[in-house]
Amino acid sequence: MSRIEILSPRLANQIAAGEVVERPASVVKELLENALDAGSTQIDIEIEAGGSKLIRIRDNGCGIAKEDLSLALSRHATSKIKTLDDLEAVSTLGFRGEALASIASVSRLTLTSNHNGEAWQAETEGREMLAQLTPAAHPIGTTLDVRDLFFNTPARRKFLRTEKTEFNHLLDVIKRQAMSRFDVGFTIKHNGKVVHQLRPGQSQAEKERRISQLCGKNFMENALYVERDAVDYKLWGWIGLPSFSRSQADLQHFFVNGRVIKDRLVAHAVKQAYRDVMYHGRHSAFVLYLDLDPATVDVNVHPTKHEVRFRDGRVVHSFLFSSIHKALADVRPQDQIGGDTNTGLQSEPALLDHSQLPAQIYQQAAMPLKERSGIHENTGVANAVQGLGFQANLSAPSAIFSTANAPLERPILSDQETEEIPPLGYAIAQLKGIYILAENAAGMVVVDAHAAHERITYERMKAQRAEQGIQSQPLLVPESIAVSEKEADFSEQHNEIFSSLGITLERMGPETLLIRQVPVLLKASKVEQLVRDVLSDLITYGQTDRIEATMNEILSTMACHSSVRANRQLNIAEMNALLRDMEATERSGQCNHGRPTWAAMSLAELDKLFLRGR
Ligand code: ADP
Ligand code: MG
Repeated sequence: MSRIEILSPRLANQIAAGEVVERPASVVKELLENALDAGSTQIDIEIEAGGSKLIRIRDNGCGIAKEDLSLALSRHATSKIKTLDDLEAVSTLGFRGEALASIASVSRLTLTSNHNGEAWQAETEGREMLAQLTPAAHPIGTTLDVRDLFFNTPARRKFLRTEKTEFNHLLDVIKRQAMSRFDVGFTIKHNGKVVHQLRPGQSQAEKERRISQLCGKNFMENALYVERDAVDYKLWGWIGLPSFSRSQADLQHFFVNGRVIKDRLVAHAVKQAYRDVMYHGRHSAFVLYLDLDPATVDVNVHPTKHEVRFRDGRVVHSFLFSSIHKALADVRPQDQIGGDTNTGLQSEPALLDHSQLPAQIYQQAAMPLKERSGIHENTGVANAVQGLGFQANLSAPSAIFSTANAPLERPILSDQETEEIPPLGYAIAQLKGIYILAENAAGMVVVDAHAAHERITYERMKAQRAEQGIQSQPLLVPESIAVSEKEADFSEQHNEIFSSLGITLERMGPETLLIRQVPVLLKASKVEQLVRDVLSDLITYGQTDRIEATMNEILSTMACHSSVRANRQLNIAEMNALLRDMEATERSGQCNHGRPTWAAMSLAELDKLFLRGR
């Protein structure tokens, strides 16, 4: 090895650029953050050739004073923080003072700015700024021109994908920033053509219009608005109905104090909230905003500031989980059918249900056909279930429906009566032994009787378990498991968490635990793996829902087996009883496996289908 030498500033910047400037999209992210930090209300973005030829971002923010122009381009130069205290409660998007220096080191950059009525321009070409300032014409605000990205770092340039791919990445970045600030207008041009024009606006309707523009109308029509204000945290935004699931996690946007975040803890909390209603292997869609005291979140974890660390991750996790879980549980047919029918059942005021969702046909088509069919045959479970305290709902299906207060005959629906028609209407017939056909105020409702009944039974079993608490039972042969010392210590220190989950653990050695007792419902499961997963969850996220999830899985299978089968003839009263149960049951829009339980078609939609009234 040769002698140690200090790197030239230029090389140091290029190394830093390796972290910060991965592709054109990263340049756009940094420049947009700067424009927003400068208090801009309008940002215009021009892109050429996917950003590799030109990225131009013009804002109407505060501008940069002439004396500061060359400083802005130096590394570790920032106007946003001065002390460590500032860093700990930073409220601007930027603070590292290295974006412009890094970008300048790998491109041909022109910075034009007007702070107090006089515009000046600085140009650099792949190096530190050598303060050559020339007068320019520019209104108050700043324009950054970044040309020929990576022209002097051919290795990086080779990694660039096609123009289209790079532009899509870049557009993703812009969309996220645009979702974070409804009060700022954006225009986006690619190769001279306007791609998006987003007007500023802070009203609920304006916000929803922007989300629609950026995430698709379909998302907005299938989303619930949630809002929950606790003392230290506020969560608001839109979450997709479980029926609007996606094959990829590509419509998940989370903002912490207006900053775009990709965070494991957050992802875990949301996933867990959807667990009970999401079809296996599908992903939820959401646009959520968490606002909290900046001092309780560390944003200086990663050079691109994508990750954060919450001071109290456990509390944040449980706040997110409970808010979303509750909102999803509260979805009732009446909320989705719309109109005036949804005044009957109100959720708690803090969690506003979105009342403007139009009557709609569910997104059945989005789910592969094979996933839609099928009841899982597995009689073993029904047997195994006996003696676990859940005999209640295993009797014949007809006994489960309380037909007592359901009318035997379908009332004739006259116009005056329509206000009293329940959201899912009254049953008319059973189709092919599978579907219930019903008529409601808006038109037609079709219900998958098995799927719906399965969910109702499942929710009842869960409620019953919640009432009884977790029943625990010693294992005949205690099981010993090998764990790490850290895990063993943890289990010893937090024994109370395990006992609250119905598990008794005993430490047998530095790296050995003995499982003595587990919940009754789980005695046939692989407890060893479960305990390992629980430990790892507790250590990583500070909490776990695995025990509950596993018990729910078992209850769900039990429910599936004790629910009405296809080809069982139901009479009108039984069908009506099922419809009323659905209206009163949490999560009744999805069966236990996440499939939709009902679909609706309004008269208007039917008319359209038959070209009526044209
Ligand atoms: P940071 O954003 O971390 O402070 P940057 O390298 O991105 O670092 O920017 C350096 C400085 O240049 C900022 O602190 C800010 O004062 C100034 N600056 C950059 N872009 C703009 C802009 N669009 N409008 C006003 N000032 C800007
Ligand atoms: Mg910055």
